[in-house]
Amino acid sequence: MTAERYGGIEAGGTKWVCAVADASGAIVARDAFPTAGPSETLDRAAAFFAAQPATRAVGIGCFGPIDPRPGSDTYGWITTTPKPGWADVDVVGPLRAALGVPIAFDTDVNAAALGEWRRGAAQGLGSVVYMTVGTGIGAGAIVDGRIVHGLLHPEVGHMRVPHDRGRDPFAGSCPRHGDCLEGLASGEALRRRWGVPAERLDDPEAWALEAEYLALALVNVTCVLSPQRVIVGGGVGARAGLLGQVRRRLLELLAGYLPVAELTDHDAVERYVAAPGLGDDAGVTGAIELALAAAPSAANPPT
Ligand code: ZN
Repeated sequence: MTAERYGGIEAGGTKWVCAVADASGAIVARDAFPTAGPSETLDRAAAFFAAQPATRAVGIGCFGPIDPRPGSDTYGWITTTPKPGWADVDVVGPLRAALGVPIAFDTDVNAAALGEWRRGAAQGLGSVVYMTVGTGIGAGAIVDGRIVHGLLHPEVGHMRVPHDRGRDPFAGSCPRHGDCLEGLASGEALRRRWGVPAERLDDPEAWALEAEYLALALVNVTCVLSPQRVIVGGGVGARAGLLGQVRRRLLELLAGYLPVAELTDHDAVERYVAAPGLGDDAGVTGAIELALAAAPSAANPPT
């Protein structure tokens, strides 16, 4: 008898990572490919899982905005994304039809938060935020052991942060909002403001400004959700030295108002603003955790 397998998809705007794990969550096979058009991308993901024996469920951590509300007419869709060709695309439906197994669906960043909480840098905590700073910016949250949804889901990347146009005249890159957080601090914003991709950007002034915006965002996240840890991932977030600048500025901006070591002490803040424990695997690991929770079992019978 073939051992049970659980699938996960980190469905990003740039690439998709598909993986299957055994019942312990250990990944046994994976495929990664650039995000093409919807039908081509969904077909490739379906073909990967169809070739894996005994996959019992698939979890998807998806770029968005998405509709994660079961029972909604557009449940399982990517909705208002500016990514060409991907607005109003049903992601869950074609995969469920092709594979015939339960499909769990959440945001890419909620999945990453779940992955880090179960298996990474947030194990044992009750409340954690995972923020990715890459081509775009987003964050997922777990509060008291539950993934945060709501009307739809948090969209931390599109929060407003103070924008000093004297220091930074760049109008912002978000097609909807201009100078929202993503419009000011994403990899796309860096590329457009400074004229070089983030990985080739070495101007100290540019990175001080980036740390300013991320610290402002973390003040907001800290004051709204009071997480026990904020994990910062993504290609821009991994820039050497950036998190150190963000931590220092975060403590200055909070100004000692919240009297816990993590938010007042320069050593303790290093465990409050942390790098991912799972590296680039947070998203796909969390997607597999979604599948483990969605698979039929004695406690979770098939409907
Ligand atoms: Zn925006």
